[in-house]
Formats: sequence, C-alpha cells, structure tokens
Amino acid sequence: GFKVVQDMISGLRDYLDSHEMGLPDLIGRAVPNVTDWRYLNLNYVTKAVIDQDACIKCGRCYAACEDTSHQAIAMKPGRIFEVIEEECVACNLCVDVCPVEDCITMRELEPGELDRRTGIRRADYANWTTHPNNPMAKAAE
Ligand code: SF4
Ligand code: SF4
Repeated sequence: GFKVVQDMISGLRDYLDSHEMGLPDLIGRAVPNVTDWRYLNLNYVTKAVIDQDACIKCGRCYAACEDTSHQAIAMKPGRIFEVIEEECVACNLCVDVCPVEDCITMRELEPGELDRRTGIRRADYANWTTHPNNPMAKAAE
C-alpha cells in the first residue's frame, strides 16, 4: 500500500543522516551507471553467501527462495541456512528479504571460476555485441 512511501522517506532520511549527506549530494549519483542494455556484461555471475555469524535464523531467505525462486537455500538441523550454489541463480531475493544488513551478500565469481549451476567456467567480459549467444554479434559491433 501507500504506507511504503512513508517507509521510503524515513529510510532515505536515515541513510542521509548516517552518511552525513544532504539530498543534493545524492541526486544524480547513479547516473554514470546508466547504460544501454546491450553493453551489460552477460558473463557476470554471482552467488548468494550467508554470513553464519550474523544470521539470526529467522528463515525468511529460505521461505522466499523456496516459494518464489530456485529452492537454492537449504535448512539444516539447528536452523542453519546454507546456499546451494548449484541452484542459485543470483536473483537477489534473499538479500532483499533478510532483516540483517549485510548478512547475505552476492559474491562475484572470478573469471575462470566454475559456475556450479551451469557447469561453465566464468568467461571474461562480453556484452550483447560480442557474446557468442548473439548470432548477429559481428554485425552489431
Ligand atoms: S539469490 Fe535467489 S536463487 Fe540465490 S539463494 Fe538467493 S533467493 Fe535463492
Ligand atoms: S533471512 Fe538472513 S537472518 Fe534470516 S535466516 Fe536468512 S540469512 Fe539468516
């Protein structure tokens, strides 16, 4: 509902206060990150990682991934939640629902590192104009 706007306002205020910033300092910060979709790195692969020391065992990540993503979090005895790398598609949902800041982070695979979900080693940067998945890649260059 519309109450989310109040949460966004208070969240923004907290963020600005904690970083000792004013709103003008924040406006436009993300603009340099904007790019055309075809220049995004198609070989960018990440996996969720749970910090077991920070985890409060609430299970929200488990429920979210189980019900609406790829069943990539296992619940082990003692309510230990662990990411199953072979299943994780890096949707970020668990990060969004976790109530503990930085408890779940997304680890970027190193070039050459094996993606255990696809069985493919992570290749170097390639966007839509260069990636072999695009049959028109040469023409689009
Ligand atoms: S990033 Fe997505 S798929 Fe991976 S563990 Fe989190 S919710 Fe599941
Ligand atoms: S949502 Fe976060 S705090 Fe809760 S069980 Fe998952 S990792 Fe732990």
